[in-house]
Amino acid sequence: MTAEIIDGKKIAEEARLEVARGVENLLAAGKPRPGLATVLVGEDPASQVYVRSKQKACAQVGIESFGYKLPATASQEEVDTLVAELNANPQVNGILVQLPLPKHLDEERVLNAISIEKDVDGFHPLNIGRLAQKGRDPLFIPCTPYGVIYLLEQTGTKISGANAVVLGRSNIVGMPVALLLVRGNATVTICHSRTRDLPSVTRSADILVAAVGRAEMVRGDWVKPGAVVIDVGVNRVDDPTVEKGYRLVGDVAFDEVKEVARAITPVPGGVGPMTIAMLLKNTLHAAELAANS
Ligand code: NDP
Repeated sequence: MTAEIIDGKKIAEEARLEVARGVENLLAAGKPRPGLATVLVGEDPASQVYVRSKQKACAQVGIESFGYKLPATASQEEVDTLVAELNANPQVNGILVQLPLPKHLDEERVLNAISIEKDVDGFHPLNIGRLAQKGRDPLFIPCTPYGVIYLLEQTGTKISGANAVVLGRSNIVGMPVALLLVRGNATVTICHSRTRDLPSVTRSADILVAAVGRAEMVRGDWVKPGAVVIDVGVNRVDDPTVEKGYRLVGDVAFDEVKEVARAITPVPGGVGPMTIAMLLKNTLHAAELAANS
């Protein structure tokens, strides 16, 4: 069997168009244009690229972006003051503090300070706590995990009753993905660096989500025939045949696993494009909440 290749770029593009329509509807109803504030502390090149691509994506769907830059030497008080100002600014519906922050800053304190109504990254402990509780709903779902579930839904994968295995238990990917799958009524196993005999666990999965950051760790014989495989990992491997000297691969050995799975996401072009699309969706949601309050 050769798997269906899940086209994350196309699905993300459709999600963005839906957000653009939502923005138009808000404006047509006389509501203010949604706004996203990005906060970048320091000069990390990768973070600069991420922030720029988020701002560009906002512009494409009609969301206004407000870019704030602080030097790498910014004090905790300066960051706290900026977040407090953005919490109070009615033009700002969503606040995105680009992580990682410089080491001297208390990341948890900063994330906790973001108003829960503007927590479009979904990392506030209240949002994560609500995700973990039955009968409670988070205001926002963290963007990459949201993208994983969105891809499963768009490809018609039945989550309810499925055996799902999540490789990785990080705060930003593995754990929230697992919580979302439980909410979708899957039976979920979470694996991590101390899990014994990973292949025997992954072979039980109808849905397998890999978020470990280990290049091509999941081999063809780790996967149950007919499983749906979502590869969140992004890893650089040396490749002297290309100009850059490296290429990106996922946590899944794509060529092997596509011969076994029913559907699989490629890297790049699978989960990656979904993350920003879900950030836009969350920002629109924040603006709608503000408009109706
Ligand atoms: P972390 O390093 O925070 O977490 C990795 C997890 O994998 C941990 O729970 C760790 O276990 C587990 N793990 C590591 N090695 C092994 C192993 N050999 N066997 C089993 N489990 C293992 O990573 P993130 O969650 O932040 O990211 C995971 C991957 O997803 C990375 O490649 C990252 O680049 C990518 N990513 C992609 C995004 C996208 O938009 N496409 C967004 C965010 C991340 P333990 O808890 O025991 O240490």
